Amino acid sequence: MLVTEWPKSMEAWTRTKRSLAGGVSTGLRAQARPHPIFFSGGAGARLTDLDGNTYLDYVLGWGPNIIGHGHPQLVAAVQGQIEHGATYGSGHEFEYLAAEAVLDAYPAFDRLVWSNSGSEAAQVALRIARGATGRQHFVKFSGHYHGWTDPVLVGYRGGRAGSSSAAESLGQSENASRDAVVLEWGNLDDLRATLTGRDIAAVVLEPVLCNSGVIEPPDGYLEGVREICTETGTVLIFDEVITGFRLAFGGAVEKYGVVPDLAVLGKAIAGGLPLSAVVGKSELLDLTQAGVVHAGTYNGNPVVLAGALATLDVLKREGTYERLDALGRRLASGLGDQLTRHGVVGAVNQVGPVVQCALGVPAVRTFTEFMGADTKAYDLLLVELLRRGVFALPGGRWYLSTEHTEHDIDTTIRIFGEVVSVSSP
Ligand code: PLP
Repeated sequence: MLVTEWPKSMEAWTRTKRSLAGGVSTGLRAQARPHPIFFSGGAGARLTDLDGNTYLDYVLGWGPNIIGHGHPQLVAAVQGQIEHGATYGSGHEFEYLAAEAVLDAYPAFDRLVWSNSGSEAAQVALRIARGATGRQHFVKFSGHYHGWTDPVLVGYRGGRAGSSSAAESLGQSENASRDAVVLEWGNLDDLRATLTGRDIAAVVLEPVLCNSGVIEPPDGYLEGVREICTETGTVLIFDEVITGFRLAFGGAVEKYGVVPDLAVLGKAIAGGLPLSAVVGKSELLDLTQAGVVHAGTYNGNPVVLAGALATLDVLKREGTYERLDALGRRLASGLGDQLTRHGVVGAVNQVGPVVQCALGVPAVRTFTEFMGADTKAYDLLLVELLRRGVFALPGGRWYLSTEHTEHDIDTTIRIFGEVVSVSSP
C-alpha cells in the first residue's frame, strides 16, 4: 500500500470546515498532515478510512482505545444499556459497580467521583485540594498537561506566542492562570522551597511525563515529592489520565508504589467512551458533599459506565500488562534500531504501552530536550507512515492496545525502516 491522496477524506474535510470550526472537533487535530483523515470504522488495532485504506492504529483515539476498536465485550455492554435508556439523572447499578472496579485497581483509596473528561476531573481535584487546605495556589511542572481549563493551561509549551503572560490561549483568564506556580520537574530542593510557608494547596503532576517525551520520574523523585507534600500539608495529585489503567491496572500508583492524595483518571478507563474520575480517600472526596461543588448533567452516565465496567474487566485479565509492556518494548527497540541502522539522530523512550520517538536529538531525558526535537522532520515522517498504512500521533507518541500483535509491531518497524531509509541523508 502506498497511498498518494485521500480524495474522500479531503472532500469530507472541505465539507466539514463549512459547518465545524476549523473542520475538527478538537483544535490539535487540525495539525494532522497532510490533512485530517476521515475514518469509517475500526476493528481491533486497525482503522479504515473513507477511501477504503486500512491502517495499523497507534493513535488509539489519543489514548483511550486501549482494548482496540469494537471490542465485543465493550460493544455488548454499551448495546445492553442503551436499549434501556441513555441517561436517568439519578442512581443506577453501574455507578457503584464501575466505582468498585476502579477502587479495586486503586486499593489505597476508598472513594471516587465521576466526570466526563480529564480536564473536568483535574478541575475537580484542584477544587477539592483548595477546599481541604483553604489555600489558593498550586504547583505544576513545565511540560505537564492537565487539560485545557484556565488555571492549568500554563507552563505546558511555554505561553502563547507574542504574549508576555504564561497563559497558553487567547482569551484565557489571566487571574485563573496566576494560581499556578510552574516549576521544573525533578528538582526537590526547588519544590521544598516553594511549598514551605507558602499558600500552596496542591502539587499536580504527570507521574510519567507522557505529554512531553514519555519521561520516567528520576529515581526517588515521586517519593521525595510525597514526603514534602506530607510535611507541608499539601495535597498531592497524580494526573493519571494517560498512565491510569495503562502502565499497570493500578496505573503509576501501582508501578511506582507511591500513593498520592488524589489521582485523576481518564482516557483508558472506559475504552474510548467519555469518562473520567478522581479517586482518593473519603476525607477528601466527601468534601464534594460538604461545600465543594462538583456537578455535571452527564456525570455517571449509565452507557459509559457499563462500557467502563466491560473495559476494566478485559484489562484486569491475567497477563494484560506484561503483554502490553512487552509490545511497548518491542516497538521501542525496533524503532530505535532502525534509526541507528540508517544513521538518523533520534531518541526512543518507552514506558509500558506508551512509546515516544523524537528526531534530531540523541536523547529525551528532560522537557528541554523534548522541545529540542525536530518536529518538522517528524511530521514528514508521519505522512510517509500514513501513506504506508501506519497511523501515529503528531509529536512522537505511540500508543499500543491489547489488540496489537507482535506481527503488527514487526510490520510497523519494517515500514518505519523503509521510511527512515528514504528520508535519511
Ligand atoms: N491530563 C493529562 C495527563 C492528559 O494527557 C490529558 C489529555 O490529553 C488531560 C489531562 C485532559 O484530558 P481531556 O482531554 O479528556 O480533557
